[in-house]
Amino acid sequence: IYGPARQNSRGVNLNINSQYRPLMDEMATFMDREYHARPLLAFDVAEDAGARHDVLCPFDLRVRVGSVQWTSRDQAARAVDAAWAAFPRWDATPVAERAAIVSRLGDLMEENLAELMTMCSREGGKLLTDGVDEIREAVDFCRYYAVRAEELFGNTTRLPGPTGESNELMMGGKGVFAAISPWNFPIAIFCGQVVAAAVAGNPVLAKPAEQTSLAANRIIELLHDAGMPRDVVQLLPGDGPTVGSVLSGDPRITGVVFTGGTDTAQIINRALAARENAPLPTLIAETGGMNAMIVDSTALPEQVVADVIQSAFQSAGQRCSALRVLYVQDDVADRVIEILKGAMDELHVGDPRHLGTDVGPVIDEDARRGLMAHIDRLKGEGRLVAETRLDPTHTANGTFVAPVAFEIDGIEALEREQFGPVLHIVRYRASEIDRVIDSINGRGYGLTFGVHSRNQTFADEIAQKIRAGNVYINRNIIGAVVGVQPFGGQGLSGTGPKAGGPHYLLRFATEKTVTENT
Ligand code: GLU
Repeated sequence: IYGPARQNSRGVNLNINSQYRPLMDEMATFMDREYHARPLLAFDVAEDAGARHDVLCPFDLRVRVGSVQWTSRDQAARAVDAAWAAFPRWDATPVAERAAIVSRLGDLMEENLAELMTMCSREGGKLLTDGVDEIREAVDFCRYYAVRAEELFGNTTRLPGPTGESNELMMGGKGVFAAISPWNFPIAIFCGQVVAAAVAGNPVLAKPAEQTSLAANRIIELLHDAGMPRDVVQLLPGDGPTVGSVLSGDPRITGVVFTGGTDTAQIINRALAARENAPLPTLIAETGGMNAMIVDSTALPEQVVADVIQSAFQSAGQRCSALRVLYVQDDVADRVIEILKGAMDELHVGDPRHLGTDVGPVIDEDARRGLMAHIDRLKGEGRLVAETRLDPTHTANGTFVAPVAFEIDGIEALEREQFGPVLHIVRYRASEIDRVIDSINGRGYGLTFGVHSRNQTFADEIAQKIRAGNVYINRNIIGAVVGVQPFGGQGLSGTGPKAGGPHYLLRFATEKTVTENT
């Protein structure tokens, strides 16, 4: 699985196999394993061959990674019963105990790094470096939320008593949460949602993306091994229309934490609002983006291109944070595009298990087809700027899309987010900068944003005017770190609060004051 060694023109070996070798040797033991995921509920679920779905490997569709037994409507409804019954007990469990379980999951994920990375690669098509980042982030979520939970829920706050009464403020869980997660971070985002809701005192019904149920299944097994009661966190693999609609339609669901498309968030929001005799719902949604970067004529072109390549094409562009629209000031645009073309020529698309690969597959055939329709349309309009070559010996059997860049007139030309390695470039004149900012803000999304400039005043002004959750100056715009760059946007990009930030757990909590006439 190591892939061909690469040498530079002076014959120096650029292969970093030695650094990764022990991990990769361990990964090799999981490469051929067949996995099976099934509902992991408070009660036992019988095998049901009729409800089984195959999971195919995105970089080689001839390989079956395993199968998933989907949750039925009836099982989902019974899982809600169990979660509802578990709430008072779990909410009353000391926060230190809840936090210890969540921290232990972090330890177990580190101990099982090789297996989890193999699953990210085989089921999610992830590069090894992306797999390491993914599991690192999941571990960070566990440890960060465990610490925050103890700070927030561990003590009551004494408030002033100006009339002689005593006043105390305390925090507790809200009720049952549904966690609906995406396939692009099958471990990190899945785990982050589940542990945040649970550590705050809420039972959780976790519905992973259809494409990545195997990784989710393994995480919940580890969480149960870490001591999480089986009725407090349950796994409900299945499709959105079945499982998602049972959950968002049940009046006992207090909140939904969701990461995925803006359209789906709106469907969930409407379903929650339509319930009768239900609590006013909490929806924590982290949705799409149409992320832009502005590059002015003072920026360093080589650094711009390195950051653009990472932002647009790392993880095959399948990050909510990925760069979609690059605005370049016209007097440097030709230079930036020339270097970008050169860099795109050097990218290797192929098997994500090889260390020489830069870009792996997109998640499945539906995703590939959707991206290709957009790419073919822009090619037909004659807007192609650069495209990485696909070598059929490495890509013939998988769902690969070559990194590609087009010139377009403005962000308004894009109807929807293209969730893959497709970059759009817009040239602007210095005099148009206000209009550029208005049109980026006017598009309604607001997730990540970048500015490249050596003019500090320009960079600061742009950063201040842009409406986006994560703004990056003179660097790439992906890879937010837990506790360092809390992640999440505004407008069509989500409700907040930011994942991995100090306020995230508050949205899963309820506040209560107790006033005593002493
Ligand atoms: N937090 C990730 C990043 O900063 C993106 C998460 C997502 O794609 O939803 O790159």
